[in-house]
Amino acid sequence: MKSPVYFLPVSASDDPATVESGLRTLLLESKIFDCIQAGDGAVIKMHFGEEGNTGHVSPRLVGVVSGLLRQKARDVVVSDTNTLYRGRRTASSEHEQLAREHGFTQDITGARLTVPDEKVKENCRIIALNGKFVKEAKVLSLYTQAQMLVGIAHFKGHMMTGFGGALKNIGMGCASREGKLAQHSTVCPVVRMQNCTGCGACEKVCPADAIAIVNGKSTVDRAKCIGCASCIAACGYGAMDVNWGTGAGSMVERMVEYAAAVLRGRKKVAYVNVALKITAECDCMAGDTARIVDDVGIFVSADPVAVDMACCDLVKQKAGGKDVFLEAHPGRDSLKQLAYAEKLGLGSRSYRLITAG
Ligand code: SF4
Ligand code: SF4
Repeated sequence: MKSPVYFLPVSASDDPATVESGLRTLLLESKIFDCIQAGDGAVIKMHFGEEGNTGHVSPRLVGVVSGLLRQKARDVVVSDTNTLYRGRRTASSEHEQLAREHGFTQDITGARLTVPDEKVKENCRIIALNGKFVKEAKVLSLYTQAQMLVGIAHFKGHMMTGFGGALKNIGMGCASREGKLAQHSTVCPVVRMQNCTGCGACEKVCPADAIAIVNGKSTVDRAKCIGCASCIAACGYGAMDVNWGTGAGSMVERMVEYAAAVLRGRKKVAYVNVALKITAECDCMAGDTARIVDDVGIFVSADPVAVDMACCDLVKQKAGGKDVFLEAHPGRDSLKQLAYAEKLGLGSRSYRLITAG
């Protein structure tokens, strides 16, 4: 069966107030929040962007979502989880401070901001799963406690998964640091020696002190590596890469199995994919990174597979049929996550696009 995906076309020249009002109309048309009952709590899972990142979703768009949620839900929280890499999103208080600097304050989003501290035992939950790779998913309790879960994702490229959208926001994004680590555990990078200049950028970002520059070339200590992939992102010479031959490909399946754990038994869920300011890399990248295709629009669905598939198709269409994600990340099969999610029953790659009138 085709899953409905609601679509608001947006171009970079559109006035922000018009886009906000268009999103509000789209959400109302989709009736996606009609399932909320008085007394329900709602959590918005999103990504606030690393320091200086300009691609992240606008807090004003979050304000539109939150405004509609608040008409029904008793409490609306906007949230993210801490990262594996070293940066301003590694620890809760600094992460919340950065979110406020990026405009995710209560007066703009209308929602209480929280980044739960995974060091507090009560904030974490272990979900038993009979997955091919994951037997225990370690997630933040917040995302399984609230009756309504809304995933707001910036749809963009990603160095490990080709692109990141609704599935990645839930699968990787709701995991605790321990859970993220478990998903990355097979990702120990390899150094392409002919490309390595010995610049040391990878060594500086490695949170596990697993990298040393020996005889002018980077070397990775596999025993110390925690698979965070920070070095791959830091290398500007294409010298640090994933060793796909060692089973790193299972990271995608692990991420999807984590999404299955978070979503298991959940009835009230909505996904808002924002395909604007589309970059090659994710919002964990600091600073202003280049856009790889023109703005496409905003997508709303109750199906995480359908909404990602629709985004992918329309991005390709906007790029004149070119796969911009494959071009940015050769060898990454971005559709693998959708095929596996469909196999696990998380949704359907077949969708019906309903474009805002
Ligand atoms: S960042 Fe890249 S080029 Fe620089 S030392 Fe590390 S692997 Fe080599
Ligand atoms: S060597 Fe391993 S731990 Fe260090 S930055 Fe690279 S992936 Fe992360």
